Amino acid sequence: MKITGIRMYQVDLPLHEGSYKWSGGNSVSVFDSTVVAVDTDAGITGWGEVCPLGPAYLPAYARGARTGIAELAPQLIGADPLALGILNERMDAAMRGHPYVKSAIDMACWDLLGKATGQPVATLMGGHVGDDFALYRAISQDTPDAMAARIAQYRSEGYTKFQLKVGSDADTDIARIHAAAAKLQPGDVLIADANTGWTQHVAMRVVDAVRDVNVYIEQPCMTYEQCLVVRRHTDRPFILDEVVDGIDMVVRGIADQAMDVINLKISKVGGLTKARQIRDLCVSVGIAMTIEDTWGGDIITAAIAHLAHSTPERFLFSATDFNSYVTVAFAEGAPQRKHGRLAASREPGLGVQPVMDVLGKPVQEWR
Ligand code: MG
Repeated sequence: MKITGIRMYQVDLPLHEGSYKWSGGNSVSVFDSTVVAVDTDAGITGWGEVCPLGPAYLPAYARGARTGIAELAPQLIGADPLALGILNERMDAAMRGHPYVKSAIDMACWDLLGKATGQPVATLMGGHVGDDFALYRAISQDTPDAMAARIAQYRSEGYTKFQLKVGSDADTDIARIHAAAAKLQPGDVLIADANTGWTQHVAMRVVDAVRDVNVYIEQPCMTYEQCLVVRRHTDRPFILDEVVDGIDMVVRGIADQAMDVINLKISKVGGLTKARQIRDLCVSVGIAMTIEDTWGGDIITAAIAHLAHSTPERFLFSATDFNSYVTVAFAEGAPQRKHGRLAASREPGLGVQPVMDVLGKPVQEWR
């Protein structure tokens, strides 16, 4: 099979809740997502998506994704989309770094591999584990009482895992964690995600003040080294996210016993091919994972579902259903949350069929 064309679309994804706020005064109200179609000489098309969490979260931004795809796409015409290892080598040789740029293309080629073989991507990644899997719900930064009140609301929607957006001053964050913890019921999981927002001394104060709370601490500080200091200071279970940008960082973290859980975001590491390598390594050494992406709509939610659903349950800490956070649906067949849980499609590929009326015309295409 050969790639005969690549089309790129842009879609705005507004949030049901108006805006999403995290550390450092950052917020996004409309996500700018990029959808890629990879056309082939076999007459089948694969679909992928990339959606950075604004420009301030990671070294990634929406127009950068499109600029990067425009750089790479002409060099991929004629390549075999089913030879995913070779395809990734080709992308890495053509462009150093910029993993998020490559993610939507790699995702589209997994969709093609599934369609060409008549198998769901989850089957190609190890098989659907059980009927479905549990999701977490991010709780946007707000006052302690407002964030605590969200727990009851989201629990009524079926969620049992709650990720508080903290990462501001120590006193407010300690109050947020205590207020939220007071609302927990048996079986609930609470995560305090600072999104790199604490300096090391602030993180030390917070983890000391919540040492008796049943809470996970996620990515307290900006650098890996600062996180490691906090990790060695606290006995709360510990999650690394932003600094885990590739398999080399996972290997380093394993060697340092730097985390109990990682947050594996598909575009952060360059696509499903590399995310699956990391997933399999983590399963082999006993590190649990939240499997998700920086943000996205129906296609990214489908890709998350296939990778998460094919992960052994005890190592799947949680996952995210981004398409339920946003008001725009653009693909039929995308997984839909049911009582806080999600399932990957049993259809070939990612199992999604984009609605072209919503996507509109390509912003750019290559033949
Ligand atoms: Mg996080």
